[in-house]
Amino acid sequence: MVTRLDLDGTYSPIGLVGKILKAEPNLKIPVPIEDLALQLDIAEIKTLTTEGFEGGLVTDETRSVGGILVKAGVSRQRRRFTIGHELCHFLIPFHKPPKTGQFLCDRAGMRSWDVKSKNSSKKMEAEANRFASLILMPPPQLRQLIDAKRYASLTTVLEIHQHFDVSKEAAARAFVEYNPETIAIIIARDGKFVRAYKNIQFPWIILNTGDPIPAISLLHSYRDRGHASDSDSTDSEYWVDTYGGRQVSAMYEQILLQSNGFAMIQLKVLQPDEDMYDADADLTAKQRYQKSQARWRR
Ligand SMILES: [Zn+2]
Repeated sequence: MVTRLDLDGTYSPIGLVGKILKAEPNLKIPVPIEDLALQLDIAEIKTLTTEGFEGGLVTDETRSVGGILVKAGVSRQRRRFTIGHELCHFLIPFHKPPKTGQFLCDRAGMRSWDVKSKNSSKKMEAEANRFASLILMPPPQLRQLIDAKRYASLTTVLEIHQHFDVSKEAAARAFVEYNPETIAIIIARDGKFVRAYKNIQFPWIILNTGDPIPAISLLHSYRDRGHASDSDSTDSEYWVDTYGGRQVSAMYEQILLQSNGFAMIQLKVLQPDEDMYDADADLTAKQRYQKSQARWRR
C-alpha cells in the first residue's frame, strides 16, 4: 500500500502518479480515489460551502495532515476529479495557497492545463489537473484501451468515461492527448463553439468561444441522442487554418449529442495516402502510428 513516504522527494504530477502506480500495482479501475486520498494522509473529505468554488484543501504549513472539500451536488465524476486535484495540492509542497492554510479552486482553475505557465497560480492548477487526470486514467490502462481500437471514435470516449468513471470531457481530453491519429474534439453548446482539445499534430482551429459551429457541420442535422454519429467527410477550411500550417487533405467529423444542449464534435485529419486507399485497414491504431512514424524517419 502506497504511503506518503514512498512519494518523498517527488514533485511532479507524472512522477507522483508513477510512484503511486508502482507501489499499487493492483490498483483497481475505476481508481478508488477517496480511499487513496485517505491512505495518503487526507483525514477527511467534506462538503465545501464557500460559493463559487469547486474544491478546496485545508492543511497546515508542514502538510502533516489535510482535509479536502468538494462542492455539494456535483456529479460523482466531477467529485472524483476534484478529489484528485486537491490531493495533488496536498502532495506537492511547492503548491502554496494565496491565503495560508487553505486552497480554494474554481471552475476556471479546473480548466487550466498549461503546466508551463509563468503564472504560478495557473501552473499549480494545471499541475493539479494533470495529476487528477493521470491518477484517474492511469496511462498504461488508458493506452491499452485506445490502442485496441482501429479508429479514433467518440464511442471510445464514452467507453473511457464509463471504464474510468471520469466525466465525458475529462475522457475526451485524455483520449485526444494519447491518440496516435490526428484528431481534435470540440465541445459545443447550443450550436456554438465552447472549447476544443487537440493533439499537437492537429492544425490550428480557427473557431473561438461563442462562434457558431460551421453551417456545413453534421451537428445541425444530427438528432440521435443515444449514439455517436457515423464519421462523415467535412470541408477542413471551415474548421482549421489551412493556409498558415500544413495542407489538410481530408477531414472527417463525428457528432455526439449530450444533455443540456452540449455536444462533442470529433475532427480527424487523414494522411494523403489514407485518403485514397486504406492499405492499413487491418492494423490497430498503434501499428498505424508506428508505420506513420517509420514513414517520417525514411
Ligand atoms: Zn486547485
